[in-house]
Formats: sequence, structure tokens, C-alpha cells
Amino acid sequence: MSKAKDAFKEIEGVIGSEFITDKDFMKAAYSRNVDPAFPDRWADIIVRPETTQEVSEIVKIANKYKIHMVPRGGGADLVGGSVTQGGILLDLTRMNRILEINEDDYYCEVECGITWGALLSELHPRGITTGVLGPGSGYSATIGGGLSNSTAGFGSTKYGLVPDICLGVEVVLPNPHGTIIRTGAAANKYAKPFCRYGVAPDFTGLFMGDVGTMGIKTKAFLKLFPESPVKAMRYYILNKNDYDKVFELAHKLRKEVGDGIRDLVVIPLIIAQLLSTQVEEKPLKRPRLKGPIFTIHMEAFDQRVLDIYIEKANEIMTKDNVARPFELQEMDLSAELSKDWKFNLKYAFNYFNMAISLGPPKISCTTCHKVPISSIPEVVKKATEFDAKYRKEFPPGSMSVFAMVLFFLPNGNCIFVGGFSADNVDAQRQIAMNMWHKKLRHQVHYGAAHYWLGESISQSIVEADAYTPEFMQFFRDIKKTVDPNFLLSPNKFHMYNYDYDYTKHIVRD
Ligand SMILES: Cc1cc2nc3c(=O)[nH]c(=O)nc-3n(C[C@H](O)[C@H](O)[C@H](O)COP(=O)(O)OP(=O)(O)OC[C@H]3O[C@@H](n4cnc5c(N)ncnc54)[C@H](O)[C@@H]3O)c2cc1C
Repeated sequence: MSKAKDAFKEIEGVIGSEFITDKDFMKAAYSRNVDPAFPDRWADIIVRPETTQEVSEIVKIANKYKIHMVPRGGGADLVGGSVTQGGILLDLTRMNRILEINEDDYYCEVECGITWGALLSELHPRGITTGVLGPGSGYSATIGGGLSNSTAGFGSTKYGLVPDICLGVEVVLPNPHGTIIRTGAAANKYAKPFCRYGVAPDFTGLFMGDVGTMGIKTKAFLKLFPESPVKAMRYYILNKNDYDKVFELAHKLRKEVGDGIRDLVVIPLIIAQLLSTQVEEKPLKRPRLKGPIFTIHMEAFDQRVLDIYIEKANEIMTKDNVARPFELQEMDLSAELSKDWKFNLKYAFNYFNMAISLGPPKISCTTCHKVPISSIPEVVKKATEFDAKYRKEFPPGSMSVFAMVLFFLPNGNCIFVGGFSADNVDAQRQIAMNMWHKKLRHQVHYGAAHYWLGESISQSIVEADAYTPEFMQFFRDIKKTVDPNFLLSPNKFHMYNYDYDYTKHIVRD
């Protein structure tokens, strides 16, 4: 019998036959994430544990047979992070319980396989929130995926990325003992998981944004916040396609409206123009679109305070005739007016989709990355030049713009959300993959920091020669401590074993 068959039998002995499979139709169902470039990849074994102890037992068996493992939450990854060729795919979505919602001390304890949609549906009726509401894919994406991908989402301008609300985790280390540890205050076995720092070094950080390379997160302790009861949304459109002004305005809004802004999203002119051609109910008059559109979500604890935020934002945006108030109805008669906008979870998980699905039926090789806001004008220029210079190397019919939207984060940085589109067909995969890595390396060279890294982005950072040899050695040493047999999430960061010479992947563009 092969070692996969032996391991299958032993794991089946631990979790029963209902939640383990090696059937082809199941392997096919788990063979992809959301991207057009990776080929289908089939795991040898797919397993759906229900408890931390079961995860630990599976890890021990994987170590016994030296079989690699990849953790998977909702599988909504865009960069090949939660699929595996061969090995064990650990689907964590049965670990979906809420263990505690502490309304007195504003934290909660959940299993990592719960979706954002399920958690927030419990919190919001109680008037509490996680602040950042997880990714646009939050109806299927999990808390574990959000922590592992350093996810941004609705609420990120004010509350930061998902790891920013994390107070600690319970993790199964991929070592031969399947060791279970807790981080944050919960590392003190007498303490509640109410804070992150002060018990030991911040080992929580080791597992944040690790794309499942350092451990299998089974529980998470998250900050909670009282939900601001009054909210408003306003649109403004710039009178010129001017990214120096985008920076200036974003900076001013940050400085003068501060935490009053829950989310700030800028839609580039080209995207607004494209959207206006695709809407169902076009207005009779062509829309006057001259510059990027600012979408400003504000919130407060009192209507009087909110009114001040609204007034201040209006003053900043309209001063010197730089921008004017705008309504989506100028492009689309079916859009709701900003004054009628009401927050709901459906909005939080759908607002991105308008831009993401611009060029159906293609899907995107995403290159979402963060840059400091002062470099916005330069990044727009560099990204546009890159796309023009390498136009012929993109997949046929592909669309690439510097960003579908710019999404602002708390301390003076913003995300260029975007990528380029390709058809989900075998004939285009290699072309798409080559261009994907090339574009990512270009971004790394202009100083970008990505957030989800999966395989394609983590490898591209290595290819761009971004890490010093000292950093790579440190990274490997730490990983070796938790994963001595190198079994968890191979391939990411071009790591294939501890002796592997990653420098042969460096590309001199
Ligand atoms: C329509 C759409 C909209 C999206 N919008 C956003 C967005 O707004 N912001 C954003 O950041 N991303 C977005 N994404 C990308 C992605 O969905 C998110 O990053 C999401 O957080 C992934 O969660 P998941 O549970 O699906 O993770 P998966 O895809 O299952 O896994 C993601 C990574 O985390 C690892 N992992 C998962 N669970 C665990 C665990 N418990 N322990 C250890 N490692 C684990 C996996 O190995 C993998 O590397 C979007 C994707 C789609 C398709």
C-alpha cells in the first residue's frame, strides 16, 4: 500500500469515514481557488476535522508518513494558497463554532473555520462588531483565512487589517507531536484571551499573514467594538484626473476627519467610465466623468457628531472646486442615492463585486498591494507604463489597469486593488502565470507590500530578490522549529525543503 493509503486508514481511524475522502470527484471539487493561472491540483486526501485534537492527530500521522499538508478555510483565495498537488488538504470549515461572545470585555473566541458572514450575523444584532468585516468573499471565507491572508475588507480604513483585531490564536504546530499552543493573553493558562501583549513575545504575529506555512490555526480571539449607530455615505468626483490631488485629499480627510471615516475608496476614472457603459439603466444624458470618484463612509456615536464629519468632508472635497458631490445615479438610474444608503452586511460583502466583475467571463490574476499614500501619483504612473510596455505579453484579450479601486488603510497607506484578467482555459495559463509573476516583481521593486501572498505572490517576492539572505535564513530557522519535517504548505516563498537554494529563482527583470 502507498503511504497515502496507509495514512488515509489511520486518519479514518481518528475522525471516522464520513469526513475523509480520496474520491476523484471530491479531489476535483477542491482542486482550484479563484484564479485563471494555476492548473487544477488534486490532493491525495481531503479531510474535514471537527476539533483541535483531531487536527493534532492528523498532523502526527502526516509526520509519521512524511506527507505534506495545506490548510484550507473557505477556499476563496485568489493566489493559489489553499490547494495542493498531492498530500493532505485540511478543510477546516467544520470547526465553525462561536465559543464566547464577551460583551462586557469586548472580545470573542471562535473556531477558525467559521465564516465572516456567520460570525457577523450573530454580532450585529447585538450592536457589536469586529470593525473590519473580513473580505468581500466573507459569506464563504473564514476567520482563519482572513488571519492567514492579512485580509482587508469593509471597515479597514478605520480598523485596519484582520490581524489588527486579533488578540491571539490557538494553533496546532506541524511538528511530529502535533503540539497545540495558545498565544496572546491566552498563553497564560489562567487568563482569558482578552489582550494580545504582555504575557510573552508576540508569537501571534508569527501566524498572521503566514498563508498557512507556520501552523494550523484552530481558534481565534478577536477584538470586538460597539457598532457606531449612525452612518452616512457620500460620493465626490474630481474635476480632473489628477492623482496628486487624490493623495492631497486623502491625506486631508485622514488628518481632519480621522476616525469619523470608516472607509475611503477611490474609483479610478477609467473604471468609472467602464462601469457607466455596462449599467442596466443608462441615463439619457452621458455622465460627466472627469476624474476619480471618492466614496466616503462615515460613522459616529451621535448624529450631531456625524453631521460635523459630513460637513468637514464636504468642505475638504469641494474647496477650490477640486471635486463636486456626485451620485451613482448620474451613471446608473437604478443606483440608490447616497442619502438613502443604509449599512447592511450584504453591502459589506458585495460592494467590491461591481468592480471585480467588470470583464466577465474572465477572472483576475490579482496583484492587490499596499503603498504609502504619498507615492500614489508615482505608482499610478509606473503601473501604467508597465502595462503599456509589456502589453504584448499579457494573455490575449486581457484587461489590466493600475487599480480597480484604491482602498485606504489607517496609517497613511492604501491598497491598489486590482490585477489583470485572463480566460480560465489551459491554453492561457502559462502566459497568465508568467505575466502575473512579472507584474508582481515590478510592484515589489517599487516598494509595494502585498497582503495575501499564497503561492504566486510569495514566490514573486523571492524572485524579485526582496529578502536579504539573513532574513531568509531567519525565516527558515523559525519554520524549522515549528515544522522540522517541512510538511506544511511547501512551494510558498519558493521553499521546497530546508536546504533548497531559493536564489536560483531570482529573476533579473
Ligand atoms: C469575490 C472575492 C472577493 C474578495 N475580497 C477580498 C477582500 O476584500 N479582501 C481580501 O483581503 N481578500 C479578498 N479576497 C481573497 C480571499 O477570499 C480572502 O483573502 C479570504 O480572507 C480568504 O479566506 P478563506 O477562508 O477563503 O481562505 P482560504 O482560501 O481557504 O485560505 C487562504 C490562505 O490561508 C491559509 N489558511 C486558511 N485557513 C487557515 C487556518 N485555519 N490555519 C492556517 N492557515 C490557513 C491557506 O493555506 C491559504 O494559504 C476575495 C476573494 C474573492 C473570490
